[in-house]
Amino acid sequence: MKKITFLVLASCLFVLSVRAQTKVICHRGFWLTPGSAQNSLTSFSKADSIGAFGSEFDVWMTANGKLVVNHDRVFKGANMVTSRYSEIRNILLDNGEQLPTLKEYLKNAKEYPNTKLIFEFKSLPNILREDEAVKKIVKCVNKYKLLDRTEFIAFSLNACFAFRKYSPSAKVYYLGGNITPKMCKSYGFAGIDYSLNTLNKNPTWVKDSHKLGLEVNVWTVDKKADIEKYISQGVDYITTNYPVLLQSLIKKNTK
Ligand code: MG
Repeated sequence: MKKITFLVLASCLFVLSVRAQTKVICHRGFWLTPGSAQNSLTSFSKADSIGAFGSEFDVWMTANGKLVVNHDRVFKGANMVTSRYSEIRNILLDNGEQLPTLKEYLKNAKEYPNTKLIFEFKSLPNILREDEAVKKIVKCVNKYKLLDRTEFIAFSLNACFAFRKYSPSAKVYYLGGNITPKMCKSYGFAGIDYSLNTLNKNPTWVKDSHKLGLEVNVWTVDKKADIEKYISQGVDYITTNYPVLLQSLIKKNTK
């Protein structure tokens, strides 16, 4: 009996220690490295090359319904929402790559099976456009058989609800920071994905989330002191522009 109790306790401790290991998400891919650029195909392969858990990227839908990968709404003179795809196609990223379509991005990600796709949906002008985009996105990610490797994040609650509806098994996280972990749980989200500022202002939310069985990602954490603070709080994921620094601090703090 004592042996069984010991084994149960040991497995609980193991589960706890697994939870405590923070995972690395590269913000807009791993781009602060030679040959890379934000949201480029290379930024995904570079994230994979350092063994990051996931690589985050941003997706817009153009005026004529094409899904493209880029962070800025207006990039090198083109508006991602009001332009047609033909006006965007020839834009070059800072590493010389063409601005990728979602299809190109997913096709490339297939080559790197160990890295999760942290898919940020960029808010659109109205909920009908958002619903249309979410349906297209789920269909496209499914076509490339990547749904099991993709986690969806969005500032739009409407888009989060749409992802829950059209891809019920996918993990969905809300970015907005203005609702409690309890609300996120009631909406069926996998966790909270909140800014450093939001979590600093709500110091119980990491614990509250874990008690509710939710995961926590904090973004965008680039300074050593902030990274160490959130590693010690046991957040599940940290999103950063400096993944190599984050990896070394995780290693140092979990010895
Ligand atoms: Mg983003």
